[in-house]
Amino acid sequence: MDSLIRFMFDRYQVRGQIVRLEHAWTEVARRHLRHDGRDLAPTVRYRLGEMSSAGLLLAASLKFDGGLVMQIQGAGPVALFVVECESNGTYRATVKLRPDAHVPHDASLADLVNQDDKGRFAVTLVPDRAHDAKDAGGTAGRGKRAARRTALTVPYQGIVPFEGDTVAEVLERYMERSEQIPTRLWLAADDHAAFGLLLQRMPQQGGNLPADFDDDGWRRVTTLAQTLTREEMLQLPVEAILKRLFWECPMTPLERRRPAFACTCSRDKVGAMLKMLGQSEVDSILAERGEVAVTCEFCNNDYRFDAVDSAQLFASELSPRTPPSRH
Ligand SMILES: [Zn+2]
Repeated sequence: MDSLIRFMFDRYQVRGQIVRLEHAWTEVARRHLRHDGRDLAPTVRYRLGEMSSAGLLLAASLKFDGGLVMQIQGAGPVALFVVECESNGTYRATVKLRPDAHVPHDASLADLVNQDDKGRFAVTLVPDRAHDAKDAGGTAGRGKRAARRTALTVPYQGIVPFEGDTVAEVLERYMERSEQIPTRLWLAADDHAAFGLLLQRMPQQGGNLPADFDDDGWRRVTTLAQTLTREEMLQLPVEAILKRLFWECPMTPLERRRPAFACTCSRDKVGAMLKMLGQSEVDSILAERGEVAVTCEFCNNDYRFDAVDSAQLFASELSPRTPPSRH
């Protein structure tokens, strides 16, 4: 049931994408039932689910091969929401609360992150070339990618103040500012599913409009999408939603993807981080605790290094324990 479909209303010059995450989302949700030993309020997790859907929708429309990182930097109980999407359709996501944060069960996104208007929303686009340089394991498929046109060669980050009450509203404002394309988004998440629908009105270039161009199409499809209920978003397959909303509209399906959860952490990367920390720091942790334990905040994987592992790490600058791999 994990599915993302890109589609187009040619006559209306409107493009769209719809995503439904089940397994791909529950893999993330079940890792975020608790935070720092306490139950995590569902309102926080559901906002993370909505951001996950939104991130995958944005990543699916990228004009280059690469990844996308979406962040809400919070001033409030939540310090950070982060969703990282890769060009192969995988993603990971996590949330960081402030110590001793109290989250009312009915807190809105603005309550969670925008105290004193200090919330920030950021999207970072990371082209694969930068990715590969950053990621020691990034060799898979490089030849194929190099043959394709890459429009973006350096990471790009857009940061805007937090505007809006929901993840969808914040995203719509961001898209208006950054792309100047009218964009509407509908998002929903619970512990079983995450959903997103994105509609964009393409620039009206006189000469390229189809002969049967319908200027009222944008208003029509957004009005139809507005009738979606939260129950429908969370329970219906994407095909059923498209049929229920747009059965009278001439739609062309373009592409289907199967999104999945995958964490990019690895023992080699944790080892590289410990090397940057330095041998004396690592030795002092070993002396105190007998091992260095690092938990990935995205997938909860534990990486443990004892004195023997540490000695190997600092002895062998060039021979990692396992061949580098990339998820
Ligand atoms: Zn991980």
